[in-house]
Amino acid sequence: MGVPFLDLKAQYRSIKPEIDEAIASVVGDCAFALGKYVLAFEQDFAAYCETKHCIAVNSGTSALHLAMLALGIAPGDEVITAANTFIATCEPISYQGATPVFVDLNEATDTLDPAKLKAAITPKTKLIVPVHLYGRPAEMDKINSIAAEAGIPVLEDAAQAHGARYKGRKTGSLGKLGCFSFYPGKNLGAYGEGGAVVTDSDDLAARMRRLRDHGSDKKYYHREVGYNYRMEGIQGAVLAVKLRHLDDWNAARRAHARRYRDLLADLPVKLPPEEDDCQSVYHLFVIGTEKRDELLKHLGEQGIGALIHYPVPVHRQQAYADLGLGEGSYPLTEKWADRILSLPMYAELSDAQIDEVCECIRGFFN
Ligand SMILES: *Cc1c(COP(=O)(O)O)cnc(C)c1O
Repeated sequence: MGVPFLDLKAQYRSIKPEIDEAIASVVGDCAFALGKYVLAFEQDFAAYCETKHCIAVNSGTSALHLAMLALGIAPGDEVITAANTFIATCEPISYQGATPVFVDLNEATDTLDPAKLKAAITPKTKLIVPVHLYGRPAEMDKINSIAAEAGIPVLEDAAQAHGARYKGRKTGSLGKLGCFSFYPGKNLGAYGEGGAVVTDSDDLAARMRRLRDHGSDKKYYHREVGYNYRMEGIQGAVLAVKLRHLDDWNAARRAHARRYRDLLADLPVKLPPEEDDCQSVYHLFVIGTEKRDELLKHLGEQGIGALIHYPVPVHRQQAYADLGLGEGSYPLTEKWADRILSLPMYAELSDAQIDEVCECIRGFFN
């Protein structure tokens, strides 16, 4: 039969009347850029993240850039981030002329290894950006305490972790600032591009609101040179509808992860880590195997959608060749990139579909 990697149409069908009405309202009001629908979503999302402020923007990459602008990241600065992440975590560091400094992953958590963080800090370090990769919170207590000792702020890349909890607290609220992406395939996805920064800081929030809208607090009065990073009204309205369903969708993803875990337990694959006080929202369900390429091919032949997130670590990308970080610079991340495989994961996935994926994997190993 086959199982798609992701099925956005299934989600749309499940909420069609609400979405269609929300979009019609925006068009009826012609509230296309920022406006009341975006404002309402910002209030809802700040409350959801348990933070004081939410600044909605036009992508997750813009959110990360806006946060770094507000923090004053500048040429000559170093910004520490995880070696195993999507390139968008790193690009805004480069936009500011700062230098990305990577930290290898911890094999027990698949996130930035706090034990290697201290050694990466120099007098030039201005910011630490842990990534809640695949929806699993990074080891925030250890990262925050090392950062606090060094007097360096922490910005969470929560682009894959809407609604995840770490020791009871929401991702995005654990650092000085938290950045989210609402790219359509994310756990909370727009009908187009979108992103947001959340924070408790009044000063940073005010600066980010200004910078996302041409540096103006008041229309046509510009205090500083800013950007057009405004969120579209349609995205705000769609996201406000979808936010009401997010906890149910995340619960469904977690149930799917449990089923995958049970059905794959006796097979020679590394399963994603899971602990009670570090609750992933399973943006992706990623397994590890030395036979990754063969398994990927086998799944493809059976019509099972599987992908690699990500096949080449950021420091090994051509875009970052100038950093001169050759093979072996971050050995665990490089090994990880050769073994990982993301299985189909979305709320509307059925048990029968998960069973089919697991049968196919079992067939490969037998
Ligand atoms: C998706 C993503 C981003 C970027 O978000 P866009 O909305 O695509 O710009 C940043 N970091 C991570 C980890 C992501 O997965």
